[in-house]
Amino acid sequence: MSDFLQVVKDNFTKEEYLSIEYALKFATEAHKNQYRRTGEEYINHPIQVALLVIDLGMDADTVIAALLHDVVEDTPVTYEEIKQKFGSAIAEMVEGVTKLTKMNVPDGADQEKEQAEEQAENIRKLFIAMAKDIRVLIVKLADRLHNMATLEALPHDKQILKSRETLDIYAPIAGRLGISEIKTKLEDYSMKYLYPEEYAFIQNKLNMKQSERVKIVEQICGEISAELDDLHFHYEIKGRPKHIYSIFKKMRSQNKTLDEIYDIVAIRIIVETVKDCYTILGVIHSKWTPMPGRFKDYIASPKPNMYQSLHTTIITHYGQIFEIQIRTFEMNQVAEYGIAAHWKYKEGRLTKDMNELDAKFSWIRELMDIEGDLKDSQDFLNALKTNVNSTEIYVFTTKGMVVNLPVGSTPIDFAYRIHSEVGNRCVGVHINNKIAHLNTPLHNGDVVEITTSNNSKGPSRDWLNYAISPGAKKKIRAFFKKSLKEENIKLGREMLEREAVKKGYKLSDLMIPSSMKVINDKYMFSDADDMYASIGCGGIRISQILYKLIDFYKKMIAENEPVSEKNLNKPLTRHTSGINIDGYDDFVIHLARCCNPVPDDEIIGYISRGRGVMVHRKNCPNVANFETERLIHAEWNKEAASVFNAPLLIETENNGTILSKITNLVIKMGMQINYLNAQMSKNRDKMVINMTIEVHNASDLTDVIKKISSEKAVLSVNRFN
Ligand code: MN
Repeated sequence: MSDFLQVVKDNFTKEEYLSIEYALKFATEAHKNQYRRTGEEYINHPIQVALLVIDLGMDADTVIAALLHDVVEDTPVTYEEIKQKFGSAIAEMVEGVTKLTKMNVPDGADQEKEQAEEQAENIRKLFIAMAKDIRVLIVKLADRLHNMATLEALPHDKQILKSRETLDIYAPIAGRLGISEIKTKLEDYSMKYLYPEEYAFIQNKLNMKQSERVKIVEQICGEISAELDDLHFHYEIKGRPKHIYSIFKKMRSQNKTLDEIYDIVAIRIIVETVKDCYTILGVIHSKWTPMPGRFKDYIASPKPNMYQSLHTTIITHYGQIFEIQIRTFEMNQVAEYGIAAHWKYKEGRLTKDMNELDAKFSWIRELMDIEGDLKDSQDFLNALKTNVNSTEIYVFTTKGMVVNLPVGSTPIDFAYRIHSEVGNRCVGVHINNKIAHLNTPLHNGDVVEITTSNNSKGPSRDWLNYAISPGAKKKIRAFFKKSLKEENIKLGREMLEREAVKKGYKLSDLMIPSSMKVINDKYMFSDADDMYASIGCGGIRISQILYKLIDFYKKMIAENEPVSEKNLNKPLTRHTSGINIDGYDDFVIHLARCCNPVPDDEIIGYISRGRGVMVHRKNCPNVANFETERLIHAEWNKEAASVFNAPLLIETENNGTILSKITNLVIKMGMQINYLNAQMSKNRDKMVINMTIEVHNASDLTDVIKKISSEKAVLSVNRFN
């Protein structure tokens, strides 16, 4: 702790020192009696994270956030308390790295899928916080780095999980931000657990060869130094092995043995000015033979993460091969500390405003831009993975304008990059003057010409698969969303209602205003219709919404015991027009005209498209043709006093009086006739009577059928189907 405070003293003003010291005390108190798996006191972890953050040249606020980063997640201290004591900027940073509380997944759900979902949600949350203040990410990376350094203490499955996540997400993000100091360490730590044998093998080999290599490196460095000293340069020179994971990657991708990889060691020469870099390059190329095709000028064209340097590979007079990197001191800072160094060099050190970030970081903005659009956090994670791992290609318009796109982009990405209207009206493409399919992957240097038509009906659904850039996908989705909204609302609502019923709930119970507010805020829905539309168009999975709704509902019941008693004992039904339909509250119920069910008939509901629930008799021949997933349990509500129309089909002999006999009989029974029609057969000996009477239930109907059948002239009485 005193060592830490000494470092703080060396790097910050008196005032800053005092606030950091206060945060340290606060964190120490909060984590009192907590220990890490390694056995050490917990506070050591936030201190190490804070040291890494200081090492990256971050400001006092970030150091304080680093000290407090686990307080909300692991101790009773709340966000509010942090905000009150340290201000909202620091509180937001802490909140950004705090994991979401675990969601309760209903039994039977796919646990592994839900775990992945949870991971994705947490990373997405981090990115939302990062969009507001990118310092959050620096804290998170430092946190992850120290966790990886102490991963030994965790059980094996956790080691694998964390290492995979680190290698897939955090290391590439660090790389994209140019913080190679952290990136290389994260990669090596992950590799140690994911490829333990290969890691040990390379490490051993490097150690074995070290003395030999050190000798050669020293000799080369000596020769270069002699030249530079003559020219009176101010410079630094060092030779160091590349990190293990990059060697491993090279062995795998180029299918080489360790001995065949010549640039295991890179010699780095750091000088004052850009002009010096090129002068020294000339010196080196005149002294040793450069390997053809290995010279790279990242000064003239920096990497997307701002990395600048000259790279060349030389062959010594003894046949050894080395990579030499030449750069300025400032470039070296950027190479090691990336985005952090970028801020360090700016006046006032830090800018929280994303807009002021170098254009090179437009990918972060692009990701943030689509964040609100990707309702599914798994989608977001995939977009992120693609993005952080992708490099860019450069293609041209016919007018020679350069367009840079992620590797794997298609003409669709290109069209939408030019303008969303060019995308929406795109009907074809020429690549290098040849007609091509819209899903053809573009290559560096391709000349792309999009054909548009005003008669185009807009993008096709397939394009979502063709497009790989988040921007294009966003614009395509926006088009669909707009054009299909009405349809999607209806579809989404029906899907959600049905799924809720399957899980044993009714949607209207689950749609508690407070839960809806949380969900709307989280996914940026403007209202319930917006949510339905997103489900309907496939923008978000039903399970994402439904599990949360169920979760909130259960919580509400648990908190509200008397209500729960009432709710749990009451069947989740409601009677409408004398019929109970499971789970549905606000559906209009119609009795099907094809079979006219009456009480006590066995019935079943059919969720019609847009016309509520149609209730049929179970043996109605139409039921067999319905989609089974739209069928729903229905039963009669005994208490409801209603009357139902029962059409009858009566066949009689024609004795002249039978029609009046039957009508009198029905009226005497106290029933009302709503419809009557009689037709005589051709030879006038028989009669067919259609009669609709009002009954209260099936036994009324049975009675009246019995009475009518007992008339001598009556041949048959049937319910009319
Ligand atoms: Mn931590």
